[in-house]
Amino acid sequence: MGFAIASDSGASAPSPIALTNVRTGLGADAIATALIENLYCLLGKLPQHATRNDWYMCLAYTVRDRMMERYVATLASITETNTAAKAVAYLSAEFLTGPHLGNSLVNLGIWQAVEEALSRVGQDDLSSLLDQEEEPGLGNGGLGRLAACYMDSLATLNVPAIGYGIRYEFGIFDQAIRDGWQVELTDKWLRFGNPWEIVRSEITFDVKLGGRTEPYYDEAGRYRMRWLSEKVVKGVAYDTPVPGYRVPTTNLLRLWKAEAAESFDFEAFNVGDYYRAVDEKIASETISKVLYPNDEPEAGKQLRLAQQYFFVSCSLQDMIRLLIMRGKPLDEFHSYWAAQLNDTHPSIAVAELMRLLVDEHAMEWDQAWAITQQTCGYTNHTLLAEALERWPLPLFARLLPRHLEIIYEINRRFLNDIRLRYPGDDQLLQRLSLIDEAGGKHMRMAHLASVGSHAINGVAALHTELLKQTLLSDFHRVAPEKFFNVTNGVTPRRWIALSNPNLSALITRKIGDRWLADLEHELEHLEPLAIDGDFQKEWQAIKADNKRVLAGLIKERTGIIIEPHSLFDIQVKRLHEYKRQHLNVLYLVTLFNKLRRVSSAAEIPRTVIFGGKAAPGYRMAKLIIKLINSVAAAINQDPVVSQVLKVVFLPDFNVKTSHHVYPAADLSEQISTAGKEASGTGNMKFAMNGALTIGTLDGANVEIRDAVGHENFFLFGLTAAEVERLKAEAYTPRSIYDSNAELREAIDLISSGFFSNGDRGLFQSLVESLITRDDYMLLADYQAYVECQQRVSQAYSDQNAWTRMSILNCARVGRFSSDRSIREYCRDIWNVRPIVPDER
Ligand SMILES: *Cc1c(COP(=O)(O)O)cnc(C)c1O
Repeated sequence: MGFAIASDSGASAPSPIALTNVRTGLGADAIATALIENLYCLLGKLPQHATRNDWYMCLAYTVRDRMMERYVATLASITETNTAAKAVAYLSAEFLTGPHLGNSLVNLGIWQAVEEALSRVGQDDLSSLLDQEEEPGLGNGGLGRLAACYMDSLATLNVPAIGYGIRYEFGIFDQAIRDGWQVELTDKWLRFGNPWEIVRSEITFDVKLGGRTEPYYDEAGRYRMRWLSEKVVKGVAYDTPVPGYRVPTTNLLRLWKAEAAESFDFEAFNVGDYYRAVDEKIASETISKVLYPNDEPEAGKQLRLAQQYFFVSCSLQDMIRLLIMRGKPLDEFHSYWAAQLNDTHPSIAVAELMRLLVDEHAMEWDQAWAITQQTCGYTNHTLLAEALERWPLPLFARLLPRHLEIIYEINRRFLNDIRLRYPGDDQLLQRLSLIDEAGGKHMRMAHLASVGSHAINGVAALHTELLKQTLLSDFHRVAPEKFFNVTNGVTPRRWIALSNPNLSALITRKIGDRWLADLEHELEHLEPLAIDGDFQKEWQAIKADNKRVLAGLIKERTGIIIEPHSLFDIQVKRLHEYKRQHLNVLYLVTLFNKLRRVSSAAEIPRTVIFGGKAAPGYRMAKLIIKLINSVAAAINQDPVVSQVLKVVFLPDFNVKTSHHVYPAADLSEQISTAGKEASGTGNMKFAMNGALTIGTLDGANVEIRDAVGHENFFLFGLTAAEVERLKAEAYTPRSIYDSNAELREAIDLISSGFFSNGDRGLFQSLVESLITRDDYMLLADYQAYVECQQRVSQAYSDQNAWTRMSILNCARVGRFSSDRSIREYCRDIWNVRPIVPDER
């Protein structure tokens, strides 16, 4: 296939129809013409009347036009008869893509051409147009962002894939901070339209909900089941192209929007109840209305189960449709589709695929089961007991009566098999069962996913080991061959090229431009430069620039003025007790006490920056935000302490903001309780951009530390095994509080009302929980953390040594590219190959 990238000749992929250069040309001339035409034809504006949003919209359409040939060609490999390629269906309730425009310019290689075209039409500020894009916040954090990185890598590796999910009308809430507290605002991301998506009004599927089942005999005299549902909603496909980095492949993200199956309930209409008919319509649309924030109690959230089933059913029906389009028989489903379940949210796919094959397509159970298992793979993302999905059986039965029967049958056969292999071990049967019989019956979704998949993977080496030893140990015992590790990764296109363009240009100048497509093998060529004085100076200058940009953003958002020469010490991620933002705060209060006592002249100036959202119902996490802001106010107001220490809470941390955050960090805070963070991906983004990590031996930190060298990583704290041992030995945080004077002073200052205008009650629940339970072992790690931070300060005082370590951190983390992760999924789990040979 002839293929041109980023050339001013304007050539593109060959097209079955003769598109004009205005639609496809990649040079500045063609793009400039297209901008004016699109402004006129799509937005009905002349340049002199166009607003900033008009220019953004017409630029977005102009860029999207340039993906269409590749998109259509890639789709053909999944839809046309006689194409043999197996494709990936990545099933995820969340895709946190971030803004599309900048990423598309990078991947299409048209950044400079677009800048030039814009200036020809009198628009000199690409960055203000990039800023105009409202990001689709269709995810909570790491899990949704991982799905987006994987879509980028699948396309870049030329693996045909569809990302299937939900087109939430309201994504993750916007966060404002008022009086130090988090306030949630509705995310109206579709307000000004979405130029990146194409609605496929003719691609729709009916999804049944509720009702009951009924046996019958079909024409062939076979005993079958039918599902007489209470209602039906319709899923409509919305497609967003996902261009690979300078390759022919452009995949798609297909998100389902829920609509009423009929716009009127005719019966209600005929009896004159017009408003009831409209109510029905509204109720149907509710299913894709809003993304659930993490960490909310799930029990009773019937709508959430309906969301999961809704998108899974639409997706599997679509996969069957596409298989039939290709002229393939249904019994070859697993030869053409690998379906990956991103956590248990889509795990109902196991039962739904069985239902579609057996009930709708009259396949025999055994064959359907073999197909289902060979198709599905399950990625586990957490060991936290409270995050494991379990549905009360009555709720499940009410919404999905047929699936309950199917799951009972899956469970019966599975447990029969176990009974034969492990006779007399009733405990084992109870532990493995898909149904938890204790204290009100529950459906265990992780068990359903595990039984129904041929592969189960954790997301970092430590996490996979713990998975095998704890949460899924019985599954590991009965089916060890199902277990794999695939350590997470992040895409260097968004997380280096787009968000750190100056660093990107420097790297390219030194080692050529292949690194963005092959981080794993190319980035290490930077290593010899770590001791090159001139290179170090350039490296430092770029970091300094990035810090000035972040300082500007912080001033604009918070009014706080920070010192760009200070050490930027950053903790950005969702607020959660296991991530231990409050351990960071305890250190800050300790430092505050120390700086008030002794001269601060010798202290290394620091700016400590926090960012992250708390789930609206998670009281402790919201209280930690308030504490951060209260401590920040006291420190920033203190005339002496603020000379060397500033603390900032940057509101509304999201992908767009994060582009300015990761590249500006000197120090990356990865301080979770060992054994609790499955992988982390923020840790990878920071290291790629030259931050050093202070962290525990948790998640992918372990592998990052091994990769960058132990001497280039600030390690502290208990190991996962030590955490468990200490817990088992009746951990008493109060004795640590009693015996550590600095810690006691810090906690007592918080209790005294010093940070809360004398209100001693405000932070009492937090302090109480630390002293009496301390589930996340902050006090056990406190002293080690404080001492480790002292080592950080010492290290930072030698700027050359620090810069060398910074360069080495970047040079040695090439394996944390999501391209490496996707290659492993393709090889170990999916058995899929690129449609264009992978030459790297
Ligand atoms: C990478 C990322 C995360 C995940 O961060 P962790 O530190 O791994 O928890 C969360 N939110 C956003 C916006 C991200 O870009």
